[in-house]
Amino acid sequence: MFPFSEADPVRHSSPLPKTSEVVIIGGGVIGVSTALFLANRDVQVTLLEKGRIAAEQSSRNWGWIRKQGRDADELPIVIEACRLWQQLADECGEDIGLRQTGVTYLARTAKDMAGFENFMKIAAAHDLDTHLVDGDRVQSMMPGMNRRFAGAMTTPSDMRAEPWLAVPALARLAARKGVRIIENCAVRALDIAGGAVAAVWTEQGKIETSSVLVAGGAWSSLFLRKHGVSIPQLSVRATVAATEPLPEFHAGAAIEDDIAFRRRQDGGYTLAPGGSNLLYVGPDAFRHATKYLPSLMAHPFGTRYLPKAPAGFPDSWLTPREWTAETISPFERKRVLNPAPGKSELDAIERGFNSLFPQLKPVRLKTTWAGMIDAMPDVVPVVDRVAAIGGLFVATGMSGHGFGIGPGIGRVVSDLIQGNEIGHNLQRFRLSRFTDGSPIRLGPAI
Ligand SMILES: Cc1cc2nc3c(=O)[nH]c(=O)nc-3n(C[C@H](O)[C@H](O)[C@H](O)COP(=O)(O)OP(=O)(O)OC[C@H]3O[C@@H](n4cnc5c(N)ncnc54)[C@H](O)[C@@H]3O)c2cc1C
Repeated sequence: MFPFSEADPVRHSSPLPKTSEVVIIGGGVIGVSTALFLANRDVQVTLLEKGRIAAEQSSRNWGWIRKQGRDADELPIVIEACRLWQQLADECGEDIGLRQTGVTYLARTAKDMAGFENFMKIAAAHDLDTHLVDGDRVQSMMPGMNRRFAGAMTTPSDMRAEPWLAVPALARLAARKGVRIIENCAVRALDIAGGAVAAVWTEQGKIETSSVLVAGGAWSSLFLRKHGVSIPQLSVRATVAATEPLPEFHAGAAIEDDIAFRRRQDGGYTLAPGGSNLLYVGPDAFRHATKYLPSLMAHPFGTRYLPKAPAGFPDSWLTPREWTAETISPFERKRVLNPAPGKSELDAIERGFNSLFPQLKPVRLKTTWAGMIDAMPDVVPVVDRVAAIGGLFVATGMSGHGFGIGPGIGRVVSDLIQGNEIGHNLQRFRLSRFTDGSPIRLGPAI
């Protein structure tokens, strides 16, 4: 049942091995993709998931796979990811809803149109099919809209997929290739000997290993902090809804100020408010506040705040920061991070959709849900080895676009772990950028 929860049956329950060449913490798109590429090279991999595969962000996202609007340094990896999605969809042998139906950003004003110029230059440098269209063309692309737009930026080669089908399908493919996947198995701590990883302690026991990847999504910072590694990661709540089947007014994905929509494989649309996310303020929000100032100043109304997170959330005031390998950790206390959708965001979705498509009014919502998006202060991920702990790797903080880029990051990280040539410059994604005095260089907003 979607959204996934701990009530869903455990589908992956390999026995806990005594040893494993690589251990991956986290069964989201990043952990699963990395496991898949390592298994392709006959590396022995164990993937540990505290709850269910893809039950957190990796099934709850909008399903946009986009090159459009991405950070210039991420773009080469996203371009690779788009190729990989097509290959993997074939390899899975299941319909994951992958369709090349484009992504479009609608502009209300000439000023909005001018704001696209920066990405148009990046797109040209990478030979993308991104282009600007005028208001007439927008009307023919999305007939029936009750608003006349100044124009839009669009990338027809961008894609969509159904995340709750896609990531579990990749996990099944990985399992067929020999990855040991264990759900309901939280990693509590690392065993570090002589400055390097020697083992992981899980709630089911110990696995000896020399390579560990932390791909824990919103939980990565809590886990790493226990081992003296600080990353300025915060998470925001984003609310989403799916409609009942509707006549097709656009086959792809689009966003404007009030509403974002994407055609779904089941004939409905995935909808989200165009505007703000919600940050629950906790100890990490205070700890990392200064690093988030540039983002706050660039988007002063981009985030709303509540003074405390629900119990058991990674940055809740009462979430323990200390535990041992023998005691129950915060990870197994909250198997699946399943925030309640926001009432005001759901109202905004209905209002935004009904006013843009009055002929389809009132919109009937089939399902509503929310997810916690994990982000970094500069809105680009951390993909790196941890210098202070041998054999420890991190791929997290995907900042609202990890689904699309997921297979690309998985391929890159698999090579990073094996010490191979990466094929991309990872300098922008280094862990030390938050401590080496570099200024925060903002990527595009979440
Ligand atoms: C509402 C919403 C809309 C979005 N829309 C898009 C979009 O359209 N396109 C796009 O590209 N991206 C989108 N994103 C972002 C994208 O979903 C994420 O960036 C991506 O899924 C992150 O993948 P991940 O593997 O890093 O983390 P996750 O999917 O969160 O997976 C991390 C996993 O690690 C597990 N874990 C954590 N700690 C431990 C531990 N100690 N032991 C064992 N397991 C552990 C967790 O249970 C979790 O399952 C959206 C996100 C949300 C929430």
